Amino acid sequence: MIIKSAEFTVSNTKISKLPLPELPEYAFIGRSNVGKSSLINMLVDVKGLAKTSQKPGKTQLINHFLINKSWYIVDLPGYGYAKSSKSNRSDWAKFIRHYLEKRESLQCVFVLIDSRLEPQKIDIEFCCSLGERGIPFILAFTKADKQGAPKSQQNMAQFRKELLTHFEEVPQMILTSAENQLGRDDILTLIDGINQN
Ligand code: GDP
Repeated sequence: MIIKSAEFTVSNTKISKLPLPELPEYAFIGRSNVGKSSLINMLVDVKGLAKTSQKPGKTQLINHFLINKSWYIVDLPGYGYAKSSKSNRSDWAKFIRHYLEKRESLQCVFVLIDSRLEPQKIDIEFCCSLGERGIPFILAFTKADKQGAPKSQQNMAQFRKELLTHFEEVPQMILTSAENQLGRDDILTLIDGINQN
């Protein structure tokens, strides 16, 4: 897919103010600092469209970006920021759960996982919560350029193994790097395929 246009549409703290669910949308989520903004900017090839390295956990916004005037990338707030208060975390959970469960135009969630790390409980739990609700998701492993390929492969294999203790089938896994555009074609081709159906 060629990206011809990418525009910021709206930031929201309220589900009621989201754009009308008339276009397919793809949500991106992961732990704070996982590289979500960088990955979104890399996909659309616009530096600074999604802001990178904002103070993690501070803003709890759902950001919509309209791509090629025909589908949305949805940037969801990061999870697992240790310093946010308990009430902040439960607000996050309610807001996001509501979006993920009720959004009829949501096609698929990209769950971002840091490829440098062994499986983290919080990521596994998040995947399980999507699985339990029947929400389709794909795993995008980030920052692949930061270590050699064998290390990334090893961490992905371990993540797969861990998921297989909870799921019969493991979702698709894509290794990515915002530095060298690894995984860009895979993700855009996947989205294109779903949009065509
Ligand atoms: P977010 O909080 O999940 O949106 O994470 P950011 O996109 O702001 O990235 C967090 C930090 O990781 C920033 O310093 C980025 O420059 C860095 N980063 C993100 N993705 C990559 C990547 O693919 N490769 C490298 N080397 N650094 C990355």
